[in-house]
Amino acid sequence: MAKLSDYESIVGKDIIDELRILAGKLSGRVIQNINSTAVGGGVAEILNRMVPLLGDLGVDAQWDVIKGGEDFFKVTKKFHNALHGANVEILPSDFDTFIEYSEMNARQMNLYGDVIFIHDPQPIALIKEKPKTKSKWIWRCHIDFSGPDIRVWLFLKDFIEQFDGSVFSAPGFTKDLSVRQFLISPSIDPLSDKNKELPKRVINKVLDTYGISQDKPIITQISRFDYLKDPFGVIEVFRLVRKYTDCQLVIAGGGATDDPEGDKVLNEIREKADNDPDIHILVLPPTSNIEINALQRASTVILQKSLREGFGLTVAEALWKAKPVVASAVGGIPLQITHKFSGLLSRTVEGTAYGIKQLLHSPEYAKKLGKNGKEHIRQNFLLTRHLRDYMLLFLALDYPEDVIRL
Ligand code: UDP
Repeated sequence: MAKLSDYESIVGKDIIDELRILAGKLSGRVIQNINSTAVGGGVAEILNRMVPLLGDLGVDAQWDVIKGGEDFFKVTKKFHNALHGANVEILPSDFDTFIEYSEMNARQMNLYGDVIFIHDPQPIALIKEKPKTKSKWIWRCHIDFSGPDIRVWLFLKDFIEQFDGSVFSAPGFTKDLSVRQFLISPSIDPLSDKNKELPKRVINKVLDTYGISQDKPIITQISRFDYLKDPFGVIEVFRLVRKYTDCQLVIAGGGATDDPEGDKVLNEIREKADNDPDIHILVLPPTSNIEINALQRASTVILQKSLREGFGLTVAEALWKAKPVVASAVGGIPLQITHKFSGLLSRTVEGTAYGIKQLLHSPEYAKKLGKNGKEHIRQNFLLTRHLRDYMLLFLALDYPEDVIRL
């Protein structure tokens, strides 16, 4: 695993020195992260790297995962979809299920952190235990809150307002709240297996393993199998593009232990792909970091056609590999892509197909977008910036709101 000093050559010595100074001020404090899955999706991806690097800095960061049965995760997935603005039937019993599991977790979980850092809605009701602790509590929202279902939002708001602070990924997600709000965007780790440089032979081997040809362009979307990632729209886009250019589509993904919808979506994707030999549907186990890295590096164009998106780590991962990306202008994606400068933004199937065709026909233009995208990620969305923001946040909790703002 990479050490902090390994990042110096990527971000410069000053940034690493600053991290060490901030970490020194946090010495002796325990930061307890709590979320709902150790595997799958963006939150686990970030915590897997963030926690050991904080440790390397001398900050005692821990990570605990709440428990839940299938009924709990069905409810939290419904809430997730409803918060993202999807039309979902929410029943009064869903709120009861949520509370029952939250109470069970509250009984079973040891809340020992000086800072208790709760990620996303699933563990949010643990805040009811706050009066029993001396900890500072932060709620970290990783989802797109720009148009949430009002019932779920009001239910969560009661919990959020009991925290000492809240963190959102993008300006458009912030809300009218009585607690402090911090704006901190997520990040990728340039030295993780998912993002590090790979030798050509490793990339070739991965393509061979999955039967992907190197003789025609490869268009790729990597995402959990989730309706909000619009995998069906991806297939429609591909079919439009292929009318003009012979190419292949890779739809690669896997599940998350807190996402019960994956299998259903996967079956529907297979149906829609209709055994097309140029559509490669890859079901990846959670350990597939090198494989995802290789697929992204081998791709001619990367697609992220999400209907809603918290931040969209897959976009940052692709841009860091200097790949041309066509992505929907939703959630945190426009923070990462400036249209026609560091990628292409789109809103429709036709617009996305048009963008891909343009990139396939103008490799120089595609290269330029990828190069600009990589620099944008280097400056704004690497783990070192994220570590700095989090440490400043932990320190800021010692001061009243009007004294310090991030
Ligand atoms: N990912 C993965 N395996 C998969 C699908 C996705 O490792 O089969 C990773 C992907 O590379 C990215 C993260 O999971 O690092 C997804 O984060 P993102 O913000 O794009 O979406 P989320 O799943 O959190 O909605």
